[in-house]
Amino acid sequence: MVIDMRTRICPFCKEDIHSQALVCRYCRRDLPPMEQPRRNHSHAWLAVITAAGIIVSGAAFLAAEFLRERKNWLTDPPRQPESRNPPD
Ligand SMILES: [Zn+2]
Repeated sequence: MVIDMRTRICPFCKEDIHSQALVCRYCRRDLPPMEQPRRNHSHAWLAVITAAGIIVSGAAFLAAEFLRERKNWLTDPPRQPESRNPPD
């Protein structure tokens, strides 16, 4: 049997079926949709997840820095500047 662009092989029974068939006409199984060139969704999700990860890690870094600075403020009271006194 000649396989042209309009047919594909059923993954279950390995028979030639229509490329856009949703149910195999031989084994009556539901077929997964044929791979389509539009994969923008997964790329968009990847970008969203990456951006979210960057934002979350950046926020966590800033929060850690802030807490560390705050701890320094609490332990070391700000000293009076010594060089500000004008010489008499
Ligand atoms: Zn089949």
